[in-house]
Amino acid sequence: MTTYFNYPSPTLQEELRKIAQAIVAPGKGILAADESVSTMGKRLTDIGVENTEENRRLYRQLLFTTDPAVADNISGVILFHETVFQKADDGTPFVELLKQKNIIPGIKVDKGVVPLFGSENECTTQGLDDLAERCAMYKKEGCHFAKWRCVLKIGTNTPSYQAILENANVLARYASICQANRLVPIVEPEVLPDGTHDLDRAQKVTETVLAAVYKALNDHHVYLEGTLLKPNMVTPGMQCSMRASPEDVARATVTALSRTVPPAVTGVTFLSGGQSEEEASVNLDAINKFVGRKPWALTFSYGRALQASVLKAWGGKAENVGTGQSELLKRAKANGDAALGKYVAGSVMGSAGGKARANGDAALGKYKAGSVKGAAGDKGLFIKDHAY
Ligand code: 13P
Repeated sequence: MTTYFNYPSPTLQEELRKIAQAIVAPGKGILAADESVSTMGKRLTDIGVENTEENRRLYRQLLFTTDPAVADNISGVILFHETVFQKADDGTPFVELLKQKNIIPGIKVDKGVVPLFGSENECTTQGLDDLAERCAMYKKEGCHFAKWRCVLKIGTNTPSYQAILENANVLARYASICQANRLVPIVEPEVLPDGTHDLDRAQKVTETVLAAVYKALNDHHVYLEGTLLKPNMVTPGMQCSMRASPEDVARATVTALSRTVPPAVTGVTFLSGGQSEEEASVNLDAINKFVGRKPWALTFSYGRALQASVLKAWGGKAENVGTGQSELLKRAKANGDAALGKYVAGSVMGSAGGKARANGDAALGKYKAGSVKGAAGDKGLFIKDHAY
């Protein structure tokens, strides 16, 4: 086995490292607003809004014209292709709006999941073919980081060796192509929460998947300081009757990460994965409070858990834009506090926030009675076999 390779030039290393560090600066995290046209359509349908390009633009405009104070807790926003080229009512490109707020624009570059033939309903993620050209174009448009989501499923026989190896390798190829084009890759191997498995099984699968991912990143000479990891938190399966406390989730999550994620990695930005807004904040807080070896920043890159209340409050009505924006400010602050281990459970209430999953209330040991209040009742944000 030959081991010859080149690292990126010192200038490129510095550029990538600085972007990654800025994204995970203390008390800051990412707003994942990169829902594909069809996923955004589902969110809009839920609030009775038609899925048109104009309505998607209006919704993203609401997000990106929120008071500049939002940048105290949001360092980066992940965009979908269409959004990169959209403009606000006054003609300012969305990318420019974000830059003016000191928020770093990022871009989802994967093209979704496809089945792995011969597997038990497992998948890989496509989009490598023209990735270099697309990365170069997005960098020119003002994006400085990228996201690629892979999906692993827990079942009796899954994730299989085939799925673990394939997804690790495709993430490594993606990461190396991003770095060659001066984008920080967010590496997202999501172990789905669907299933009856318990916390221990979720932890072991997460460890196995992450170990394979970091072996592949090393094989592809990816510069780890210029990357971020976007993993699932380790939780029991959504259909498991044994719930876990935030402290259990924190211990399982930090232990899994400490066994597999090299200290060189700049930061970990968790996905919310169907947790309620409040649950995602409380668990992130517990992770940061957990006493253990944590050499990386531990923060958020939430989609559903940052937007459920915003969507609900907005409801597609121009007169509700301000209310929607104040929901975003509240959740951003809650998660910013959680990233510092300073969040007080039940301290932030939103239109959909303060929701525990119906079966998850007990899991939230510190949950204050009466703090669960809002338009969405106790509805969780879990979506079976979630696509993005
Ligand atoms: P959720 O926080 O809704 O899980 O989504 C984050 C994301 O970007 C998934 O790829």
